[in-house]
Amino acid sequence: MVRDAALRRLPSVDEVLKTGTAAVAVDRFGRPAAVAAVRAALDETRTALRAQGAADTAPSADTLAQAALARLVADATPAVRPVLNLTGVVLHTNLGRAVLAETAVEAAVAAMRRTVALEFDLSTGRRGERDGLVRDLLCELTGAEDATLVNNNAAAVLLVLNTLAKDREAIVSRGELIEIGGAFRMPDIMARAGTVLVEVGTTNRTHPGDYAEALSERTGLVLKVHTSNYRIEGFTAAVSAKELVAIARERNVPVVDDLGSGTLVDLARFGLAREPTVAEAVAAGADLVTFSGDKLLGGPQAGFVVGRKDLIQRINRNPMKRALRIDKIRLAAVEATLRLYRDPDRLADRLPTLRHLARPQAEILAQARRIAPALAAALGDGFEVTAGDCASQIGSGALPQATLASAGLFARPRDERGAGRAVESLAKALREQPVPVIGRIADGAVVLDLRCLDDESGFLQVLASMPGGADALA
Ligand SMILES: *Cc1c(COP(=O)(O)O)cnc(C)c1O
Repeated sequence: MVRDAALRRLPSVDEVLKTGTAAVAVDRFGRPAAVAAVRAALDETRTALRAQGAADTAPSADTLAQAALARLVADATPAVRPVLNLTGVVLHTNLGRAVLAETAVEAAVAAMRRTVALEFDLSTGRRGERDGLVRDLLCELTGAEDATLVNNNAAAVLLVLNTLAKDREAIVSRGELIEIGGAFRMPDIMARAGTVLVEVGTTNRTHPGDYAEALSERTGLVLKVHTSNYRIEGFTAAVSAKELVAIARERNVPVVDDLGSGTLVDLARFGLAREPTVAEAVAAGADLVTFSGDKLLGGPQAGFVVGRKDLIQRINRNPMKRALRIDKIRLAAVEATLRLYRDPDRLADRLPTLRHLARPQAEILAQARRIAPALAAALGDGFEVTAGDCASQIGSGALPQATLASAGLFARPRDERGAGRAVESLAKALREQPVPVIGRIADGAVVLDLRCLDDESGFLQVLASMPGGADALA
C-alpha cells in the first residue's frame, strides 16, 4: 500500500536529531526535551498518515525537526503571562488584581536578589519579627494601636475567628453572610475556624436589639462584614459599626470589622464614590479591622489585621499564623506600597490602581480615537471599528454598583449573518496574541475599555502584528 510506503519512508528519531534544526532545539531546550519533541512529532505524523489512507510522501527529517522545535517553542511560553487588561474591570481577580507601583516592584526585586533583614533586628543583632517591619507604617496610616499581616484577607478573617472565637460563638447579621469569588463563604470559613456561627436579623433588616439578644457568655466576637459584591436595597436596616461597638462593649465582647477591600484614603478625593476608610473603621471603635492588600489598596496579595494590641498579640501567638505568613518578596512590596500613602497628593501618579481609577474619561476617549485606525487596519474590512463611551467597574467587590465613565474601542461585524460567531472568534484571536488582549463582549461587539491601558505602544505593536482582514479571523 502507498500509505505503508510513506510510513516506511519516515525518518528515524536519530535521523531527525542529526538535522541542523534539531541541533538548535537541543541547544535551546536540552537533549531530553528535544528527543521527546521529535518522538512526539513522529508519532503525530504516523497517526496522520494512517488516518489519511493514501499518502505517497513522508515529511523530511528537517520538516519533522521543525515541527518538534515549534512544539518546544510553544511549550516554553510561560503560563503566568502578562496580558493587556482591557476588560474595564480595574481590579480583576482573575487577572491578578492590582498592578504594583514601580517602587513596590523594585523593592520586591531587591528582596528576591538579596538576603534581607526579615526577622533580624539590625540594632541588637538579635532575632526580630517580620511583621514588625510594617507595623509602624500600618499604625500610622490607620490610627490603630497594633497591626499584623498574613497571606491574604481570607486568611486574616480565618485567623481572627480562630483566635478569638474557637469553640465559641461569632455573631453575624444574616444580611452579611457573604460569598465572594473563589469559594470564600463566611459560614464555611467560620466552621473551619472552629467557630459557631450565630446568625441574627433577617436578610434585609438587622436591628441593634438582634445583636443584644444574641450576646451571651458563649460569644467570642461580633463580626461585621462589608457586603463587598452585592447591595441589599429597598426596605433595609443594618447596624453601624459604631452602634455595634456600643452594644458589644457592655458585654466585653470584641467587634471585628471585615472591610474586604479597605482603602487607606478617602476615594472622594479622586472623584470616586466614598468607601469607608480603614482609619474610620478603627475610629468607630472596632477592636479589629481586616482588609486586603491587593484590592483598593493597590499592593500585592496580603491580608491585614489592625486594632487592639492585646488582641493582635493573641493573633500573633496562634500557631496558625505561622502557616499563613507572608514571604519576604511580598512584604517588601507591601512596605513600599504603604509608604506611598504618606504622600496622598502624589498617590494617583504613583499607584497604578488609583491612577487607573481616577483617569478622566476625556483622556481615555482621546486615546481610543488615536488607536482606532490601527485596530481597524488590524481587523480588516469585516469589522467596523469605532471609539466611544463605555463604563468601567472597580472590581474585587469594591462599590459593586458604581461604574466609572470610561471610553474604548468597539469592533462590530459588518455582516449581520454570523455576527455572533465573528465576535466570539475576534475575542479569541485577541486572546491568542503574543501579549493576550482581554476585552469583553457586549451588544454584539468586542469592547476594549482602555482605562487600564498603560502600554499604548505595546498595544499598537500587537495590532501591527495581527494578520489583518476579518477573513483571517473567521
Ligand atoms: C475580598 C474579601 C475578602 C477576602 O479577601 P482576599 O484578600 O481576597 O483573601 C474577605 N472579606 C471581604 C468582605 C472581602 O470583600
